[in-house]
Amino acid sequence: MRTYQFPLDLVRERSPERPVALVRPRSVSVAARWFQDNLKADVFYAVKANPSRWVIETLVEAGVTGFDVASLAEIELVRSVSTDVRLAFMHPVKSRSAITKAYFDHGVRTFSLDCEDELQKILDATGGANDLNLLVRMAVSADGAAYSLSGKFGVSTDQAPSLLLATRRAVKDGLMGVCFHVGSQCMRPTAYQAAMAQVGRAITRAGVIVDIVDIGGGFPSVYPGMVPPDMSEYADAIHRGFNEMPVSETTELWCEPGRALVAESSSILARVDLRKGDALYLNDGSYGSLFDATHSRWPFPTKLVRDGDASSDLKPFQFYGPTCDSIDHMPGPFWLPADIREGDFIEIGMLGAYGVAMSTGFNGYGEHDLAAVEDAPMASLYGLAPRSIPTVRTTAEEQARKVVRLSRPKGKAGQRKKARR
Ligand SMILES: *Cc1c(COP(=O)(O)O)cnc(C)c1O
Repeated sequence: MRTYQFPLDLVRERSPERPVALVRPRSVSVAARWFQDNLKADVFYAVKANPSRWVIETLVEAGVTGFDVASLAEIELVRSVSTDVRLAFMHPVKSRSAITKAYFDHGVRTFSLDCEDELQKILDATGGANDLNLLVRMAVSADGAAYSLSGKFGVSTDQAPSLLLATRRAVKDGLMGVCFHVGSQCMRPTAYQAAMAQVGRAITRAGVIVDIVDIGGGFPSVYPGMVPPDMSEYADAIHRGFNEMPVSETTELWCEPGRALVAESSSILARVDLRKGDALYLNDGSYGSLFDATHSRWPFPTKLVRDGDASSDLKPFQFYGPTCDSIDHMPGPFWLPADIREGDFIEIGMLGAYGVAMSTGFNGYGEHDLAAVEDAPMASLYGLAPRSIPTVRTTAEEQARKVVRLSRPKGKAGQRKKARR
């Protein structure tokens, strides 16, 4: 992988034909360090957030020794980088052959489940192995998260006690645990504490001894309009929640961050292939790395990367991706110089998580290049850049407010009228 100091250096050198994932490995190491230093938990990186080889390699170099995987392909990917790290197969629904291969060929010992049939399947497919770590996935409330991860998986609190008991009985020399996911991009640190209380009540009702509490992922990143509380508040809430759980001194705390380890690290460098008014047609889109810009309408932060002057007047744009599908539209608004034109490059930031991971080859698009850059990410929860994205939108709103203030009519009635608008 080539390294450039700035994205503009890459544009100057080779005006790339395909979209480029601009990656900042250091920001992944810094995020990993935050988890290692501030959370008293074993870290299992959730590979699905960004399964790029450089991410796995960077995390292994940074000392991350656990990986949360959901498929044989993810298992093989991580194993091709390291034969030593611990793999936890945390998909609650797995095929028999995937379980068998994971256990016998790849040394996977940790599996999650959310019903008795899956428990039996794991026992059968591993030949009744006695060194399994089995984690019961519990459904918890997803208040405060952008995406729920309890809609599809997780045993309900009602049915949890009998499954906890059955799993406890099935575990021999390994460890028995509970796991959950508070939902991705969780903006409320107390959501973890609430989930731990909910899970704790089920443990008490079942009367089981639990060896592992795995709090899953959900840790946030920064996006325009979504600036989460300080990461230390997440650590505090989790440590408080853990202290209040009915578990023993030796119970292990595990976590499975995906987004929070990688989101800041990467941008996508896309090219404008056509401009029609406020619509920019790019060579990347919702079937490529911009899934969330379409399906969640996230207005990712953008920067023009042009070798030359640009208008200082910023305007809101919408994007269209390269495929022929009308869904391939990203409403934004994305604020960019008013004179943006065909052939310009745009850096779209904060796409390290669920960006390239979502790419498809639909319509012959979706392939991208990879390059490392040495500048700072557009925002950072770990001190590498400002904590919030200085959106132009805020500036525009401020300008609008200034205009209102300047033109505010004298007299109280007029002021109140303006204020209400
Ligand atoms: C997706 C997922 C994660 C990672 O979630 P983030 O919100 O990206 O941190 C962790 N654990 C499981 C089981 C998941 O499905």
